[in-house]
Amino acid sequence: MVNYKPKRMGLLVTDECHNNCDHCGVITNSGHPPISLETMNSYISQAYELGMIQLDIGGGEPSLRDETLDVIRHASSKGMHTVMTTNGSYASNEENALKYARELKSAGLGTIRFSIDKDHMKSISYETYLNAVRGALKSGLGVGICSAYRFSTALENHILLEKLAEDLSGKYKGKNILLRNGKIDMEIGFIHNEGRAREFDREELWWYKLHKKEGCRKNEIMIKSNGDITPCCSFHALANNDYVIGNANTMSLKTAIERVNESIIGSVLMGPRGTERLVNFLEKSGNSEAQKMTDSEYTSFCEFCNTVFSTPTTKELVVNEFNRLKDRKSTIVFGRENSSTVSRISVVVGDERIEFLDFLGPVTSKDYSIAFHEHILRYLEAKERWGENVSGRKEEVEKILVALST
Ligand code: SF4
Ligand code: SF4
Repeated sequence: MVNYKPKRMGLLVTDECHNNCDHCGVITNSGHPPISLETMNSYISQAYELGMIQLDIGGGEPSLRDETLDVIRHASSKGMHTVMTTNGSYASNEENALKYARELKSAGLGTIRFSIDKDHMKSISYETYLNAVRGALKSGLGVGICSAYRFSTALENHILLEKLAEDLSGKYKGKNILLRNGKIDMEIGFIHNEGRAREFDREELWWYKLHKKEGCRKNEIMIKSNGDITPCCSFHALANNDYVIGNANTMSLKTAIERVNESIIGSVLMGPRGTERLVNFLEKSGNSEAQKMTDSEYTSFCEFCNTVFSTPTTKELVVNEFNRLKDRKSTIVFGRENSSTVSRISVVVGDERIEFLDFLGPVTSKDYSIAFHEHILRYLEAKERWGENVSGRKEEVEKILVALST
């Protein structure tokens, strides 16, 4: 049974970055040769064929690689919604900001997300951010901002975002910045205990007891800049080689997805109530190390996942249980979407609820609805290619699109 059917693919086009943020969760400037344009484009085509409708481009800093524009061009020619996350460093002046934003727009980029917070500002000026956001808005790109908080920067970040809103003649509302003719979607989160952020004092981060029902972010398969494939977009998974399923240079995307489904992570964590079941199992295992692990505090569920799978005792416990269930052919029932604390948008088509995490659309709400429904249509068409009868649902979406376009 296929539990894991990612709707999005993440592509880290480079690990190069001129910044050195204290909270960086990815491994930057490793010096390894980056994944080729040919492989990236082949993976985009495969993702589209497998029904994925969104490509999330990141790095390192993706604007440092010229071929990022070719990647966007290829994905958008397939009809995929493209989102690029950048630190905005290309926008050293207004002219550069607008020029690059227009290049992105004409390549077909849907949404640009800027990482804006005090930790990034260690090497990026406020003026650069302002140029970048203004250029992106002017060029007609959908704009989002993600901001990473820790306790000693939270207030400063808040003031920073309020100032930005004011300088854009808008109003900062927490979930978005309202502009006169549109909005900027905001994604604000506390920094997780991963990567360089592990160096922060404990009081800087937000620790909590496990939320058993917290969702595993199973919607997105990730291709790292060296071609390694991980089943999810968690920084913990990106940094830990135990999560690597294979490499895009030698494995097809379909095989990679099949491997995830055969794996413990795919079968245990990525199914409905997967996170809850994992915690319950470890709590009842009678193993003191597992008990201590479930009683501890974390900054994200992914940190717990990483701790479980990188600790030999708990990993062995879970592997044994997984094999026992597999051998008994008992039903490891998965397949239903679980809830998540991450921002999401959903739509009900017929009897199906289709959900997208962090789907940031173009600026105006009408464009947003059109773009969103066009993506739903492509998603249904992809299902059709997989042999599913979607005719009623397709007609419903087509009707909505006609109504929105008139
Ligand atoms: S957080 Fe982003 S901008 Fe900062 S060092 Fe890491 S990749 Fe570069
Ligand atoms: S819980 Fe584990 S498998 Fe799920 S998104 Fe987090 S790191 Fe990935």
